[in-house]
Amino acid sequence: MPTQVSQVDRLVGIDLGGTSIKAGAIARNGQVLEETGADPGFSRGSAAVLDTLAGVGIALGARGKGLGIGVPGLLQRERGFVIDSPNLPGFRNLPIKQELARRLDVDPSRIHVENDANAAALGEQWLGGGRGETDCLLVTLGTGIGGGLILASQLYAGADLAGEVGHVVIHEGGVPCGCGSKGCVEQYASATAARRRALALGLPRSAPGDLKLLCDAARAAEGPERSLLHEIGTDLGRGLGPAVCLLDLRCFVFGGGFSAALDTLEAGVRAGIDERSYGKRGSLIRLLGAKLGPAAGWIGAARLNL
Ligand SMILES: [Zn+2]
Repeated sequence: MPTQVSQVDRLVGIDLGGTSIKAGAIARNGQVLEETGADPGFSRGSAAVLDTLAGVGIALGARGKGLGIGVPGLLQRERGFVIDSPNLPGFRNLPIKQELARRLDVDPSRIHVENDANAAALGEQWLGGGRGETDCLLVTLGTGIGGGLILASQLYAGADLAGEVGHVVIHEGGVPCGCGSKGCVEQYASATAARRRALALGLPRSAPGDLKLLCDAARAAEGPERSLLHEIGTDLGRGLGPAVCLLDLRCFVFGGGFSAALDTLEAGVRAGIDERSYGKRGSLIRLLGAKLGPAAGWIGAARLNL
């Protein structure tokens, strides 16, 4: 007989991304009960996307109960308001909390809206690579670099934007960034940036710009591929240095597609942290891989209901 879990114990979470909706229900003890996905269909307009989100939530048992949702972009988290989201067409000045509450017949206080990287951090700290870590920063290495900060086992978002480590400036006057600044670490150590740097150097020689083959070549032998990944890792470490200085963090958990390269980046990351932290703490820090993959976001969003 499968374990019976009452409706009360089902925590529903949704991760809204630019190309997909991932969602599920999980028990308070961390047992995944159901996992699902949907096409957000942004071309049909934001009202239709909200209908789809509500439909996914209702199918998972959230009607009358509420849910947690992770959303990329600039948010006012408490109000549940999307100010702007470059990856979500039409999601601008959108009161997502109110809109979902109405569709799910719940008080708005039962809809928990969180930044997507923060939601992923909560998921990884609950059941994934950061399990058991009381203080850690989840760093997502993807198109950009996202961050979610866990302090004393709780998400710490500050007024809204704490943990956004991708926009730490590491090279004064460097590469322009989408945030309006120049020289941000995400312009040097995200998957996008790594690909650009590899292409510029014609690496790996077998297929320039292919990050998987770049890592394979770096693992196989000394050479320009290994040097490039060391440089990229060093830049990443330079970006993490301020978090080490300010908070004395000793644990970073890396998720996102480019985190598969962590073994090839690690020595560089430690060198970069050494360079930018008082007391050369690079060797003292644990660099861990995320474990939940694309499920981290919805699992962390579900945890917001706890
Ligand atoms: Zn930036």
